[in-house]
Order: sequence, then C-alpha cells, then structure tokens
Amino acid sequence: MKQLTALAILFSFCISVAAQDIKNNPGSNHGNRFEQLGTILPTPNEYRTASGAPGPKYWQQRCDYDIVCELDEPNRRLMGKETLTYYNNSPDVLSYLWIQLDENEHSTVNNSGYQTSNMMPIRINEADIQRFTGKMDKDKEYGDNITRVADAAGKLLKYTINKTMMRIELPQLLKPGQQFIFKIDWNYYIIEKNKYGGRGGFEFFPEDGNDLFTMTQWFPRLCVYSDFQGWQNHQFVGSGEFALTFGNYKVAMTVPADHVVMSTGQGQNYQQVLTPAQFVRWQKAQTSTDVTEIVTLDEAVAREKQKLKEKKTWIFKADMVRDFAWGSSRKFIWDAMPAMVEGKKVMCMSAYGKEAYSLYRKFSTKAVAHTIKTYSKFTIPYPYPVAQSLEAANGMEYPMICFNFGRTEKDANGMYSANSTYSEGTKNGMLGVVIHEVGHNFFPMIINSDERQWTWMDEGLNSFCEYLTEELWDNKFPVSKGPAYKIVDYMKLPKDQLEPIMTNSENIIQFGPNAYSKPSTGLNILRETIMGRDLFDYAFKEYARRWAFKHPTPADLFRTMEDASGEDLDWYWRGWFYGTEPCDISLDTVKWAVLSTESVSRPAGGGVTKMPVAKPLLNTFDDISKIRNREDKKIVFATDADESLKDFYWRYDRGLAKVDDTPFEITTPAPSTDTLTEAERFFIAGKKNMYELTFSNKGGLVMPIIIEWTFKDGTKEIDRIPVQVWRKNENKVVKTFMKDKEVASVKLDPLRETADINEGNNSWPAITTPSKFQLFKGSGGRGARGAGGGGNPMQKEIK
Ligand SMILES: [Zn+2]
Repeated sequence: MKQLTALAILFSFCISVAAQDIKNNPGSNHGNRFEQLGTILPTPNEYRTASGAPGPKYWQQRCDYDIVCELDEPNRRLMGKETLTYYNNSPDVLSYLWIQLDENEHSTVNNSGYQTSNMMPIRINEADIQRFTGKMDKDKEYGDNITRVADAAGKLLKYTINKTMMRIELPQLLKPGQQFIFKIDWNYYIIEKNKYGGRGGFEFFPEDGNDLFTMTQWFPRLCVYSDFQGWQNHQFVGSGEFALTFGNYKVAMTVPADHVVMSTGQGQNYQQVLTPAQFVRWQKAQTSTDVTEIVTLDEAVAREKQKLKEKKTWIFKADMVRDFAWGSSRKFIWDAMPAMVEGKKVMCMSAYGKEAYSLYRKFSTKAVAHTIKTYSKFTIPYPYPVAQSLEAANGMEYPMICFNFGRTEKDANGMYSANSTYSEGTKNGMLGVVIHEVGHNFFPMIINSDERQWTWMDEGLNSFCEYLTEELWDNKFPVSKGPAYKIVDYMKLPKDQLEPIMTNSENIIQFGPNAYSKPSTGLNILRETIMGRDLFDYAFKEYARRWAFKHPTPADLFRTMEDASGEDLDWYWRGWFYGTEPCDISLDTVKWAVLSTESVSRPAGGGVTKMPVAKPLLNTFDDISKIRNREDKKIVFATDADESLKDFYWRYDRGLAKVDDTPFEITTPAPSTDTLTEAERFFIAGKKNMYELTFSNKGGLVMPIIIEWTFKDGTKEIDRIPVQVWRKNENKVVKTFMKDKEVASVKLDPLRETADINEGNNSWPAITTPSKFQLFKGSGGRGARGAGGGGNPMQKEIK
C-alpha cells in the first residue's frame, strides 16, 4: 500500500512538468506540440480501457449509513451515532479502513492552518488571534470527538487518528465480496462559519436571535478505495473538497420542534413534523404547475420569535449518493415545484430566511428546475427524486442539496418584505450560484471524480455546464466562465504565477481561473471552435453516461472525448490542460497579387484610403456561443418561456454602447511583383486576387487560425484553418488564399474564440485596439455581477 502511494505522488509530479517542458523533439520546430500523450496517461487495464470507458473488471466499493443525531441548539453542538456497512467489491484483501473526519479541520490539534504560510497582519481582530493561537474558544475544543468505535456485536475496534483521517483496524481480514458492519459514536461543537470559515456551521442573526445551521461534511465518512490509487489519502485542509464512496443513507435528526429541516434525500415523516396545513400544501405541491410555499413567510417570521425548547425528529432516506448534508432553522421559508425530467418527476425546492425572500421566492426553485433540465440534456437525466437550493450566504454543494447566497436590501421601514429590492449584481450572482451549485449534482456528485485530487474535474466541468445553462436562461445573462476572451488576462500572467490545470487542488495559486475558468473555457473552445457542437456534445454526453455513479480520472475524460468523436485531441490536452502557454498568433505579413487572363493589372503603388469599416468595440462583444444560441431557432430561453422571470432588471435599459462606425484609415499595401506564366494565366478564368499570409506562433499554444476578410465592397468572409496547419512547423505558417474580391483588411480571430492574448498583431493593416479608458467609457451596466452591479436602481424606482 505504501509503495503504491509513493508511486502515485511521483506520477502526478511527473505529469505536471512533463508535457510542457520535456519535449519529444527538443530544439526543433516540430514533433513536439502534436505528439501523442503516450506515457503521460496511465496504462489502460481491465478496470479502465484505452477508449476511456470502465473496463470489464471495473469495481468500486460501497458504504451504507444509518445515522441518528441530535442538535443541541443552546450549546451549538451535534451528537451522533452511526452504523456503517462497508462492502468490499475490490479484488483486494483489506486489513483496515480509512474514514474522513473533516470537522478536524477546525481542531487545535489537527487544524489545517499548519499547512499555510501567512504574514503578520497590520490590524488584528478576535478571529485572527484565535486563528494564530489555534484556540477558537476558551471553553470549547472544536473538531470531532470520537467516543466509541465498535463492530456490530459491540466489540471495540482499534483506531488511529491522523489529522482529518481515521484508520480503523479490522478485527479480521476483509476479503473480496465480504461486508463489515461497524458503529461510530461522535459529537462536535458547530463552528461559526462566517467567522472562521468552513464548509458548514451556524450563522447567527442578532436581530432575531436565531441560528441558521448548515450541516455539511459533518459525520465520519468512508474514504474512496480505488483501482487507481488505493485509499484516498489527501488530508482535508479546506480547498480540495472530498472523495467518498457511494451508498444508501437513512438519517434521523432531532432538532427544536419549530425548526424546518431540509436534507439530502426524501422526507419519510412529513406528516409528523409539519403542521396539518403545511402537510396539505406539501401534498398539493406534488402536482402543482407553479411554485408553492409549504412553510410561508408569515409562518417563518412567527417562528423566529417562538424558540421552542421541545424537539422533533425528521427522517430522510437517500439512495446511491456519495454524501449527505442538511440545513436546519426556524428561519426557513420552504417552497416547492415539481419538474419533469425525461418523464420522471423531480421535486425542486428552496429554503431561505426572510432576508432572501423576494429574490429566492421568485427565482430559486425555477432556477433549480432549469438547471437539472439543462444539465440532463448535456449529460445524463437527473436521477434523484429531489433537488434543493438553500440560502446560507455561501456556495457549497452536496447530493440533492446545496447552499447559496443572495439577500435583498431592507425596505424603507428597516424590515424585509415580499417586495424587498436587490441590485442587478446580487440577482445575477444569486442565479449564477444556484445554477452552479445545483449543477454540482452532476459533477462531481454523480460523475464522481476525486475532487480532493483534481479540483478542475468537478469545478471546471461544472462551470462549463453552468455556462451552458446560464446562456439558456437568458440570452443576455452576463456569463463569465466560458467565453475565450475572458480568460486572456489570466493567460497573460507571468509563468511563476501560473500552473497547469493538471495540478493537485492544494498546490494551485490561481484557484479561480485555474480550476474553474480555464478548464471551462477549454471545453467551450473545443465545443464551439475545434470540434463543433454536434461532435462535442455527443462525446461529452458519452463521458457522463460511461462514468455516472462511478469514479473517473482525467485520462478517462481525455480518452472518451477522442474515442467518441473521432478527433485526435492529444495536442489540446497537452497544451491547454498540461501546459501553461498562452495562444498568441501573429499575422506577420500579407502579400497580394492580382491575376488576370488578359493582363496583370495591379493597383498603382501604396496609399491611404478612408474606409467605413465598423470597428469592433469590446464592450459590444457577444461571445460566439451567445450568437449561435440566438440564431438557433429551436432554442427557447427560460426568460421567454416563463414571463414571470422577467423582473425589473430584465426590462431595465442598460444603455449598451453602439458599434463605432466612424471611418478609419487603412493603408493599401504596395502590390506584389510576382508574375504568372502564360500557362498559369490560362487556368484563371477571371480576375482574381491572391493573398499569401504568414503567421507566427508567439505564445506557444497552437490553435486553429480563424481569418476574417473584409472586402473593399464592405462584405466579409471567414476562413477557418484547422490547428493541424502548425504540424510541420509549430512556430511559423504560410498560407495562400485566392479571392474574387479585393480585400480591404484581414483580421484574425474576429469573434475572439481562441483566447489570443495579444490582439495587437491580429490585423492587417494594423488596427489599434481601444484603450482601457475607451472601454471604460463605453461599457454598459452588465459587466459587474457579484459586486454592486451598478447599485440598486430597483430601490429608487419602486417606492
Ligand atoms: Zn463549484
């Protein structure tokens, strides 16, 4: 086992340097960037095939849980007892099991801060002192308190805790095909998440004196034991999320009687825990066509003041999930609406406090439904009976449930109401986070990669589908993680600030761009520019189908995308995923010859002409996917299908800048002195223009060359030269074109599809790009998304 571990680490180190720096044909201009990945990918075997599919002997472990827990609200403490049934489906004999104890992230003994360097702050607050001393509370010790580990008969089992992991010694060897039942008793103090950070915890609302609890990564959970790395052995330090085994869950949580519990899985005893009126609403909601409130705003506000001491037990069941999370509060308003996904009913639901009511009531559950329907089209049909979005001032995902942000502003009377206003930035941020976190059900909850190892396999793939889903919500949605031109600033960074996408989660400096935007953008470029929508969508769906409810690795994705599309993409994985080089294709020279059967006629000399050619201003730019969606008449955007989604901001005039069409000067080049032989002239029926273009690869990353010709009559034409044109010379390419019309100007990558970091060398004659100041001056109000987004004009408008 130890040896396997060492090999795995060595292997991941090798691949992060190999692809980019160790060249197949060093010192040469070819035989490097297009070489096959070969030994960089793991050798195919009977568990994982060379096609990227699970092999004939593919196996994975399983663990079922039966958990009983109780929330001690006054002490903010959770106490639990769990029974685990572990199935050894592997061909290996096991002598121990590994358990994740993620709550130990907050323990003074095992806290994750030990791995992070930090500077002395200028100002220091209470939370800082607690973090530096490792002691967050003078009376409490955070982290998991394991009180008992025993087998089914009650015989105590030996265990060892290593920071956030626990090894349990098996009383006898667990052979292939056998199962082992054991019990763990535990408790822990719940962390104040907004103060100390963390995936879950409580948030205190001083105005009404209530807590909103989010219980995540909260119970001892089985690690993945796999064919590709044995026991998952990355400790939890906060950024890398988790890798867990699939199984079935039954969980009973005892909480104050006036709390509402929202959880992974389906409620088993709603009739006992809801009021009769709420239970009637719940039953009605099963067949309703619009969002129904099960627990209303008025009920939630009344409960905030109630603060019952009595308790109630809620029971939930979930099958084939790899984790289980829940939220509990008397602040929760709860709404629901069924959605049909390929003939199967899914209850889409939301829960939120009054602070989020006017945003969440309007959009959350509908965004949940839109997300699972859209993802189902691009991947596999959503398989679970429930999908939920909870407002908890964060963004974190678990099976069937996720926690999101987006609160409204108070009304003039200092209260929240059904009509509270919000800024456009808050609204778009809220829609983005709901789509993103609900989307995580697919990546990595169902198509279950190891996110503690490869953040990009969950965040990158999910951000890509989020982007597709936002674009189908509203053709004007300000998408961020997908359009190629939006990754340019990151690709321009100096080398020491970049790392390949194929870098382990904890080793990433540029977490957002590296793990979210760059992989998402990479898939978008594959879809729109390199493969085309049909080939890409088929192959991506095949990857999802092959690996649903299984544990894929990067190689399984890379191989499936090629196998199902008939496209060799090794050059792209090498450049975009294993490398850090940017794309910068330069149009160096344009040579022009005019041909005629009669006589060789050429323009006299060079000169300057004024041309009324529209200059593309960056702020008016729509990415190619938006344009194609708009042109595809089969697409119906969510905001068109449901008029109620068009709120104040949908109608708000954003004052987008118009295209600047003031004439600019172009320089006519001197004609070529090349001449044609009599024979060559014979084959040319009419007057033709020949253009020889030379390109150089200044960035390193090879990409297709997209050429936009603007003719003297004002018309345009686009030629797309596949990336393979760089094969024989990865530094320089010469390509000749014959055009009937005379060309006024040439522009590379006019729709900004290739993330070219320097557009200054993309045009002939050279066009100066608008300065930052001009961009700022002309920009509309839709840029900002998370921040203010232009304030809250809704507040001024709606009195
Ligand atoms: Zn995410």
